[in-house]
Amino acid sequence: MLTTDCNLECRYCFGEALADVDSDFGDFNVDYYLPRRITYDLETLDSFCRKDLDCALIFYGGEPLLCIDDIKRIMDKVYTRHFLIQTNGLLLDRLAPEYVNCLHTILVSIDGDEALTDFYRGHGTFRKVFDNLKLVKRNGFNGEIIARMTVMEQTDIYKQVKWLVDNSEFTFSSAHWQLNAGFWSDFERRDFKHWSEDSYNPGILKLVKFWVDYMEEHGVVLRLYPFLGVAQSLLLGEKRVLLRCGAGWINYAIQTDGYIVPCPTMWGMKDYYLGHISTADPLRLKQVHIGKPCTECTAFNLCGGRCLYAIVTKRWSPEAYAHVCGTVKNLIQAVRGQMSRIEKLIQKGKVRLNDFEYMKYNGCEIIP
Ligand code: SF4
Ligand code: SF4
Repeated sequence: MLTTDCNLECRYCFGEALADVDSDFGDFNVDYYLPRRITYDLETLDSFCRKDLDCALIFYGGEPLLCIDDIKRIMDKVYTRHFLIQTNGLLLDRLAPEYVNCLHTILVSIDGDEALTDFYRGHGTFRKVFDNLKLVKRNGFNGEIIARMTVMEQTDIYKQVKWLVDNSEFTFSSAHWQLNAGFWSDFERRDFKHWSEDSYNPGILKLVKFWVDYMEEHGVVLRLYPFLGVAQSLLLGEKRVLLRCGAGWINYAIQTDGYIVPCPTMWGMKDYYLGHISTADPLRLKQVHIGKPCTECTAFNLCGGRCLYAIVTKRWSPEAYAHVCGTVKNLIQAVRGQMSRIEKLIQKGKVRLNDFEYMKYNGCEIIP
C-alpha cells in the first residue's frame, strides 16, 4: 500500500465511509493515523522480498499512481518476480512506458459502460480511464489488463460484463467483479436482498451461459475470473478450503508504515498485525484462517470462504450475509450447470484445459 490517499470519491468507498461515520466498528483496536506515504526504506523492502523467490508485489493504495516516484524507485531497486498494479487508471498516462511495460498485470477499476462507471465513480472517470488504457496499449503494453468491477444495486451484471468484453472502443478479455457487500454497516439502508435475487443471480446464470457460448463460437475462454476459478477447480477436481483471495495465508498487505496485515482492507487493525517487513520472513508469516460458518457450509470446498475482512468485522448480520452466500452458491451452481458443455469443448479440442489457467492471487478474489 503506497498511500492512504485517493484521487476519487466513489460511491461505494468514499460515499459509504461518510454514511458510515457513526457506525460501531466493534472492539477493534484500529490505528487510524497511518502515514500517508511509505516510511520504510527500500533496502528493507528489498531484503524482505529477496527471502521469497516467488515474491510478487502488487502496487495498491489508496491510489498507487499518486506515488509515481515510489513506484519507479521500487521497480528499479526491489527484487521481485513480478510487479502488478491495482489502480483506478486516472493517472496511468503519467507512468512512463518503460515502467508500465514491465508490469505483469494492470487491474483497473471500471464498473461497466460509461453511464454506470461515471455514476459510481464520478463524471468523466470513464473517458479518462478508457483513453489511458488505449494509450497504454499503443505504447506497447502486452501484459494482462483486468477490468476490476465493483458491483451493487445499480449493476446489471449480464449487461455490463458483456459490454466490457464486447464494445467498439476497448474490449477487455479479462474481468473480475466484487460485490459491495459486507464492507460497511449498510445492509439496512440498501436493497441488496431484492437486487441479488431479482437481478444479480439470474444475471449470473445468463452470463455463464454466454461465457460458454463464446467458447463454442470463438474457441476462446474469456478470463471472467469468478467463472474461471470455479470452473478450473471443477475440471481439476480440487477442493479449496483456504480463501481464494489468498488474504492472510499467501497474500498479504504491507502498510505504509511497514506493518503486515492480511489484506489492504484490514489496514490499521492492530489485532491483525502479522509482523513488520524489517524483521518478518515472508515464507513464515503468521496465518489467519476463517472458521464458522464457512467451515460448516456445503459450498466451502469450492467457495473457500468469502472475504476475511467481512467475516471478521461482521458488519452485516448473519441473516444479511446469508444473501451474499446465496449469490456464491448460485454462481457455483451456474458454473456446475455448464460443466458438461465445457468438458465436451475440451474433448473436441475447441478449448484447452490450459485456457483455464491463471496467475493465482493476482488481486482477483475469484469469489465475488
Ligand atoms: S458460501 Fe458463505 S458460508 Fe459458505 S463457504 Fe462461502 S462465504 Fe462461507
Ligand atoms: S475478499 Fe480477500 S482480498 Fe478481498 S477484501 Fe476480502 S479479505 Fe481482502
